[in-house]
Amino acid sequence: MNFIETRGNDGQRPTSITFSQAILSPMSSFGGIYSPEYLPTLREDFLNDHVDSGYKVLAKDLLKAFEVDIEDSVIDEALALYDKFDDPKNPVPVVKVYEDLYVSELFHGPTRAFKDMALQPFGKVLSAVAQSRGEKYLILAATSGDTGPAALETFKNRDNIQVACLYPDGGTSDVQRLQMVTEDAQNLKVIGIHGDFDDAQSALKTLLTSEKFNEALKVHNTSLSAANSVNFGRIIFQTIYHVYSYLELVRQGAIKMGEEVFLNVPSGNFGNALGGYYAMKMGLPIKQIHISSNNNNVLTRFITTGEYDLRDASVIPTTSPAMDILKSSNVERILFDMFGAERTKELMLQLDAEKFYALTEEELTQVQAVFAADYCNDQEGLEYIKQAFEVDYLMCPHTATCFKTYETHAKDKNIKTIAYATAEWTKFSPNIALAITGEKPEHDIDALKLIADQANVVVPQQIAELFDKPISQKTLVDKQEIEAAILEFLNQ
Ligand SMILES: *Cc1c(COP(=O)(O)O)cnc(C)c1O
Repeated sequence: MNFIETRGNDGQRPTSITFSQAILSPMSSFGGIYSPEYLPTLREDFLNDHVDSGYKVLAKDLLKAFEVDIEDSVIDEALALYDKFDDPKNPVPVVKVYEDLYVSELFHGPTRAFKDMALQPFGKVLSAVAQSRGEKYLILAATSGDTGPAALETFKNRDNIQVACLYPDGGTSDVQRLQMVTEDAQNLKVIGIHGDFDDAQSALKTLLTSEKFNEALKVHNTSLSAANSVNFGRIIFQTIYHVYSYLELVRQGAIKMGEEVFLNVPSGNFGNALGGYYAMKMGLPIKQIHISSNNNNVLTRFITTGEYDLRDASVIPTTSPAMDILKSSNVERILFDMFGAERTKELMLQLDAEKFYALTEEELTQVQAVFAADYCNDQEGLEYIKQAFEVDYLMCPHTATCFKTYETHAKDKNIKTIAYATAEWTKFSPNIALAITGEKPEHDIDALKLIADQANVVVPQQIAELFDKPISQKTLVDKQEIEAAILEFLNQ
């Protein structure tokens, strides 16, 4: 299958490209992104045939439906990385929390957040494709917390790929920072900056237009790629767990095969929700997809009013920082799939120019046939964490936002909901400690102990060992020194 551009073609780039080209160079004409030219549909018996196949077999057959131009052996090696999850036989456990509410846990990988679900296999695939072409790629990442650790972990010591990762010093949790600064590999560079996440991100943008930087890339025969969720190489791995979670409900006897469910997705850049949308279009029996946001509720307003409005919006820091996002990149792929390239280009260019666009009545009706949304503020989130803990379920503040949307859109409808848990409690421990004990330790290490005692759980080894590992990434710079730091890394 080939990939085409969400904003149409500029007459210079190829009109359609292969999967491997789309993952190496994910940016397309007019600032758009690549999307599959059509969505495969699952053959009639697909779900029945896979009730008892494990995660990897299911994944392989789903990838086959997309007809990607990646060798089987590479796919096998990439999918084998799920064997490093807590339970290789069941990398995505689905847990019943309330009568109709099941939580699918996407955080059992090496960095304890859902980014591993896609980045683990993606890192292997991207490196293999670069190697087979004899090309070198640099991945620039600005992270507010979860993407950085997961990207570093997956590309560590991989051939033909280098990663430079910027994080705001003081803007991540202790655990997230340690996950990055303890990564020790020749091909990784972690740079803390004095500033916030926006500073890190705008520094990256400036870098892309810097002559000196582009000259240096040329000298080193290196091209830029991206590991954020505009890269379809991540999205493709995010359709799998939606199908797996559905089949898990069938296996548990919670639903009958073919019975419709709600998905409920804590959303930021909309990659996770997009994976659910694709699964639905491919034929997974989904009644509706519920989008959960925090106080940065642009997505909720978009889905309820049809207006994407950033005119007065600025990012509000919340207890679910991975969702503190205003411009949700993957919404563009929904617009493209529903309304086509011409309309998508019109809307997205209007968003760039006026920070606003509005769907027509008809378009909104189409969106609302698939999606509903709500948002959850920090106080409500703490309350949901506490309530869930009373029935012995420990969850993170991102996951908690789903519980609000469940109440407003799913409760008492007699349809099962699959909500997604996107991070383990260990990554956002001070606020979880606050929710369940009333006490908020300043440092993660104290919060982890407090929760472990209170909930009678152990801190997993991947997190516990961080506090004793040597710090190998010590670079900490001002904004204007970022370029020099990255050039020095390239020149090593
Ligand atoms: C990245 C992330 C999200 C948001 O996922 P999107 O695919 O960007 O919508 C939610 N929760 C956590 C913990 C994350 O790391």
